[in-house]
Amino acid sequence: MRVLFLMATRTYRASAFLEAARRLGVEVVVGSDQPQVLSEFMPGSTLTLNFLDLEEATGTIVELAKRYPLTAVVGVDDDTTVLAAMAAAALSLPHNSVESVQAARNKHRLRQILAKAGVPSPRFQLLSIDDYPMESARGVSFPCVVKPLFLSASRGVIRADDVKQFVAAFQRLVAILRQPEVAAAGGEAARQILVEMFIPGQEVALEGLLTNGELRVLAIFDKPDPLDGPYFEETIYVTPSRLPVVVQEEIAACASQTARALGLRAGPVHAELRVNDEGPWIIEIAPRSIGGLCSRTLRFGTGISLEELILRHALGMEIETFARERRPAGVMMIPTPQAGILHQVRGQKEAERVPGIEQVVISIPLGQAVVPLPEGTRYLGFIFARDETPERVEGALREAHRRLEFIIEPR
Ligand code: ADP
Repeated sequence: MRVLFLMATRTYRASAFLEAARRLGVEVVVGSDQPQVLSEFMPGSTLTLNFLDLEEATGTIVELAKRYPLTAVVGVDDDTTVLAAMAAAALSLPHNSVESVQAARNKHRLRQILAKAGVPSPRFQLLSIDDYPMESARGVSFPCVVKPLFLSASRGVIRADDVKQFVAAFQRLVAILRQPEVAAAGGEAARQILVEMFIPGQEVALEGLLTNGELRVLAIFDKPDPLDGPYFEETIYVTPSRLPVVVQEEIAACASQTARALGLRAGPVHAELRVNDEGPWIIEIAPRSIGGLCSRTLRFGTGISLEELILRHALGMEIETFARERRPAGVMMIPTPQAGILHQVRGQKEAERVPGIEQVVISIPLGQAVVPLPEGTRYLGFIFARDETPERVEGALREAHRRLEFIIEPR
């Protein structure tokens, strides 16, 4: 058996998927947007693809598969889910339809489909980057959220409470969308801006796996830090959720309805929802697994990783159990406090000594530039914890973070 992993060169997800393949004894091809150092020495194990030309990239994959037959194609990040669906379709492998994945990748299309299907989702309107924000503001009700159609990790997502904030948010987002690599990656979508009603409430993330359109929930994560804006930097994720079981069931039903409305039927999904007095609202869903290094919080059955579960599922291999290991677990995506050059990180040992803390990973090398949201794209790092209760996990993450000090010097 051989699997093709499609991943951007800068992905966080490579090692977890490669390790899963190694454990299963499955051959791997890594398809990426930049040539890899080892490609010369390992023919058939790497593939350079033009992620900006999906037809061409699909053709390259089909050619490879003639010599090195593929059993599954896995799109690891947002950048590669559409290509994975196209390649799987061309190779007649089980997959989500290309339209369903494209719809999930375009926040405007997603909202249109959800509105039509009656799935609770914020009211929205589409603007152009050429619009005059002062004029557009007349049609907007506040508070609202201004966002790009196709970026991820909350990049460019900004809350505005009044006209003045709206104009500023609009202009700030236009500047991001005009960055050459963003404009190239987004095409027409980089010329558009989505404005949504701000949905108050508690946010959760749902990790699931679809089989013939049926959603199996693998984990629901609480996000105990309020995400009220103006920017929406992810911080703490803790599972299992402390919400009442009935609310968790409503969340699962809402995610399931969303997948159905889009036509997503196979493989992993990661959804973000908000819960308030009116019940759960879908913020977004993506046909991929959780991002960053966050999957390290999840273990199934006798210790198998999320990636191994996904890979077994994609290859039609046996899966003993989908039950998450019971011990509560959590992660903090370390927020970037200010822009500059990361000069030094202090207190890592002290942070790792906090009871319940398993690991502190600093993922940006010293000497590199760090940029906070809404422009930034990377986290400083990740803190992982496991403990007796979700409360203790959350407490451990906060205490470990308090012990860390980031010396960031202005550029
Ligand atoms: P991305 O794909 O970049 O993560 P999202 O659309 O999921 O973009 O938005 C990122 C975060 O911004 C969400 O997780 C949520 O916290 C917040 N957010 C986005 N849209 C809304 C909304 N309409 N109401 C409230 N919060 C929102």
